[in-house]
Amino acid sequence: MSSIPLATDIYFNLSNGQKIPALGVGTSPPDNKPAVKEQVITAVKAGYRQIDTAWYYGTEQYVGEALKELFEEGVVKREELYIVTKYWPSLYNNPEESINQSLKRLQLDYVDLLLQHYPVAFKSGPDGLPVVPLDEAGNLIYDDDPVTGNKFIESYHKLEDLLENTTKVKAIGISNYSNPKLRKLLAAVKKHKPVVNQLEVHPLLPQQDIIDFNNQNGIRVAGFSPVGSGGAPVLKLPLVNQLAEKYNVSPNEVANAYLILQGVPSLPRTSNLERIKTNIRLPPLTREERDQLYQLGVENPERFINEPWGRGLGLKWFKGDNLSVEFD
Ligand code: NDP
Repeated sequence: MSSIPLATDIYFNLSNGQKIPALGVGTSPPDNKPAVKEQVITAVKAGYRQIDTAWYYGTEQYVGEALKELFEEGVVKREELYIVTKYWPSLYNNPEESINQSLKRLQLDYVDLLLQHYPVAFKSGPDGLPVVPLDEAGNLIYDDDPVTGNKFIESYHKLEDLLENTTKVKAIGISNYSNPKLRKLLAAVKKHKPVVNQLEVHPLLPQQDIIDFNNQNGIRVAGFSPVGSGGAPVLKLPLVNQLAEKYNVSPNEVANAYLILQGVPSLPRTSNLERIKTNIRLPPLTREERDQLYQLGVENPERFINEPWGRGLGLKWFKGDNLSVEFD
C-alpha cells in the first residue's frame, strides 16, 4: 500500500465559494474522438472529479455519453463532478448559443464553469462556423484587431449576463489570458470576476508572472498540457525522471505535482487507459525540488500550444522567440 497522497483527494477554493478538484481529465481531440467516452469513464472510476472539455474539441458528445453511463450506473452523482467547458472565438458574440449546444451534447442542465477559450474574436457565421475562418490567402479573418481590439471584453460581459440571468453556468472564467489582457478585462468587469484562468503550465513554461498576477486578483490558474502536450517533452527531462524514481511514482505524476503543489489544478490528457488510472498520486516534492523544476523553465522557457493567434494575445515564449515581448 502506497503512503503517497492522492491528487484525486485534493480540492482548491475558488473566489466564488466553489471547490475545484486539483486533478482533471483532459478531453481535447485525440485521433479517435469516440474513444474519449471510455477515457472519461476510466478517469471518473479512478477518482478524477474534474472534466475539462470545450465546444471546439468535438468531444462533448462522447463526454456526455460517458456521464450518462456513469450516472445510470450510480458510479458518481452529477453534483460530485466539476465539469468545465469553453466557448470558442468563432462564437465570441454569442456564448449562450455555445453553451446551449454544449449542454445538449453533454446531456446536462448546467456546467460548473464556462471559460472564454481565447480573448480574441473571429469572423464566423452565427452558428460559429467555420471554427477558424480563413481568407483565400489562408490568413485568419478576425472580427476585431487581436492586439488592440476590445471585443473580448464585450464577449466577457455576455458571459457575465449568462451567469446572472440563467442557470446554465455555475461560474465563469477565462483561458489563455496574458497579464496585459487580464488587466484590461479587470478594469471592465461589471460584477463577476473570472474565477479561473486556464493556461499552459509545466516545468518548461512556469509563467510565474501570470500566476502571481492572477493570485493577487483572486483568480485561480488551472494548468493545461502538464507534460507539454504531444510528444510529452516534459517527461524527457532527466530531473522529472529522477524525481519519479525517488518517490516511486510515474514521471506524469511528478509533472502533475509540480502544478498541484503550487495550487494549480492539473489537466492531463492521455488516450492510454492504464496511464489514466496510474496518474493519480501526488508525490510530496520538496520546495527545493520544485524550485529546481522551475529553474528549467526559467532558463529555457518553451510554449508548446502555438496557436497562430496566440502572439497577438501578449503571451510569451513562443518557439523560436528569443525572449519575451511585453504588450503593455
Ligand atoms: P498533455 O500535456 O496532457 O499531453 C498529452 C500528450 O502527452 C498525449 O499526446 C499523450 O499521448 C502524451 N503522453 C502523456 N503521457 C505520456 C507518456 N507517459 N509517454 C508518452 N506520451 C505521453 O497535453 P494536452 O495538450 O493534451 O492538454 C491536456 C488537456 O488540457 C486537454 O485535453 C484539454 O482538456 C486542456 N487544454 C486546454 C487548452 C486551452 O486553450 N484552454 C489548450 C490545450 C489543452 P497518449 O495519448 O499516447 O498517452
